[in-house]
Amino acid sequence: MEMKDRLKILRQPMPEQAPKVRARNFDEVPLGYTPDTAKIEASRCIQCKNRPCVEGCPVEVDIPAFIALVAEGKFIEAAKKIKETNALPAVCGRVCPQEAQCEARCVRGKKGEPVAIGRMERFVADNERAQGEVSIPEIPPKTGKRIAVVGSGPAGLTVAGDLVQLGHDVTIFEALHAPGGVLVYGIPEFRLPKAIVAAEVDYLKNMGVKIETSHVVGKLDTVDDLLNEGFDAVFIGTGAGLPTFMNIPGENLNGVYSANEYLTRSNLMKAYRFPEYDTPIVRGRNVAVVGGGNVAMDAARTAMRLGADNVYLIYRRSRAEMPARSEEIHHAEEEGIQFHLLTNPIRYIGNDKGWVVGVECLKMELGEPDDSGRRRPVPMKGSEFVIDIDTAVVAIGAGSNPLVQSTTPGLETNKWNYIIADEETGQTSREGVFAGGDIVTGAATVILAMGAGRKAARAIHTYVMSK
Ligand SMILES: Cc1cc2nc3c(=O)[nH]c(=O)nc-3n(C[C@H](O)[C@H](O)[C@H](O)COP(=O)(O)OP(=O)(O)OC[C@H]3O[C@@H](n4cnc5c(N)ncnc54)[C@H](O)[C@@H]3O)c2cc1C
Ligand code: SF4
Repeated sequence: MEMKDRLKILRQPMPEQAPKVRARNFDEVPLGYTPDTAKIEASRCIQCKNRPCVEGCPVEVDIPAFIALVAEGKFIEAAKKIKETNALPAVCGRVCPQEAQCEARCVRGKKGEPVAIGRMERFVADNERAQGEVSIPEIPPKTGKRIAVVGSGPAGLTVAGDLVQLGHDVTIFEALHAPGGVLVYGIPEFRLPKAIVAAEVDYLKNMGVKIETSHVVGKLDTVDDLLNEGFDAVFIGTGAGLPTFMNIPGENLNGVYSANEYLTRSNLMKAYRFPEYDTPIVRGRNVAVVGGGNVAMDAARTAMRLGADNVYLIYRRSRAEMPARSEEIHHAEEEGIQFHLLTNPIRYIGNDKGWVVGVECLKMELGEPDDSGRRRPVPMKGSEFVIDIDTAVVAIGAGSNPLVQSTTPGLETNKWNYIIADEETGQTSREGVFAGGDIVTGAATVILAMGAGRKAARAIHTYVMSK
C-alpha cells in the first residue's frame, strides 16, 4: 500500500462490552481485534527506520517487525517475533500502559492517533493460543546449574523463562496456591482473564520450569537453605503486596478492607462466584474506594460488578494527577463510578455493632508541587462532609513484602525495606542472590518487573557459568 494511503487510515477501534452490561458481569471488557481489523491497523505503521516505538518498550520488542508480519497476515510468525523478547504477550497486550510507553513514541501519534501496538500484541497472542500453535522453543542441553526463583509474579516468571531457555534447571517457589503474582490475585478477571495467565504459566512449565506453590520462603525455609541445598543462585521477586492504610480513625471497623484483601478475595479466591466458590465477600451497596491508581480503579469496578448501587472513588488530587491508566479511568467513569476528586477521608464512622456506616471527608485544593513534581493537595478549612457507606476499600499504595529480607542475613535494604539491587544486573549485597521487580523498585508495572527479570537472568547466567 502506498504511504499516502496508509496515512489516511484511522486507528481501528476495539469493540467492547457496553458499559451498562459489563458493569454487572466479570467478563473481559474489550473484545479484541478480528484478523481483518488487525491487518488494517498494521498497515497504519510506516516502518520507521529509527524505530522510536522500540525505545519506548522496556523489553525492546521488535515492534515494526511484528507489525509488518501482522500486515501480511503472518500472525503466528508475529507471535514468535514478540516472544523473542517478551514471554507474556497476551498479558502485556492487556495491561501495559502503552499510551505512556511504545505508543507515546509512535510518530503517527504526532499528527493523529498512534498505531495501536498493544491491541495488535493482544490479538497476535490470543490468535496463537486459539490456533493451538503455541510453539515451544528448542531448549539447549542441560548445564547442570540449578536456580531458585522466589515469587511467581511477572519478574519471577520472566527470570525463570529466560534461564530455562539457557539450559538451566529452574524452580519457582510461590507462597500462594496459584502462580502469577498480581496477575492472578490483584488484576481482576474483567481486565485480565485468569485462563490467559494460566496459559502463559503452562507455556513456561512446558519449557521445563518447575513451580512449587504454597511454599513461603522465610517460613518453610530460607534463601540460605536454598543455597545450601545446592541451588547455584537465587532470584528474589517477592513484590510489593503489603497493604498500607492512612492511619485515620475507624480503619479497623468491619467493612473497611485493604485493596489487597478485597481484590484477593474476589480474584484469587473467586468470591465473585460465591456460592459456587466458598469465599464470602461483603457485597456493599454503597462502597467508597480511596485512591487514584490502577488498584483503586480495579477495586471500584469490582465493587460495581459485585452489585453495589453506588461506588464512590475518593482521590485527594485532581483527575490530571491520577496515576491509573487513562483507559481504566475512562472505563470506570463509563461504568458509573462516582468520582470525588480533591477529596480526602479523615475518619470512618461506625455503628454500635462495629460496622462502617460513613466516611467523613475534607475537600482539598492544589498547592505547590511536592517531591514527586505533582501539586500538593492542601485541605480546605471547614469543608468536612460525610458520605454514607457500608464498605470501604483503601487503595493508597502498597509496601514491600518483608519476610525474605528479615530472614536473609546480609541482604541490604533501603529505608522502605525494598531490596537494594544493581539496576543492570539485579545483583544484591549477597553473593549468588539477585532481585528484581516491585521488591526492588516499589510498586511499578508488569513490564518493568519483566524488564528487571530479563536483565537479572542474563547476569545469573554469567554468574552460574563462571562458578
Ligand atoms: C490491583 C493491581 C492492578 C495493577 N494493574 C496494573 C496494570 O494495569 N498494568 C501494569 O503494568 N501494572 C499493574 N499493576 C502493577 C503490577 O501488577 C506489578 O508492578 C507487578 O505485578 C510486579 O511484579 P513482581 O513480579 O515484582 O511482583 P508480584 O506480581 O507482586 O509477585 C510477587 C509474588 O511473590 C510471592 N511472594 C511474596 N513473598 C513470598 C515468599 N516469602 N515466598 C514465596 N513467594 C512469595 C507473592 O505471593 C507473589 O505471587 C497492578 C497492581 C495491582 C495490585
Ligand atoms: S513508531 Fe509507530 S509508525 Fe513508526 S515503526 Fe513504530 S509503530 Fe510503526
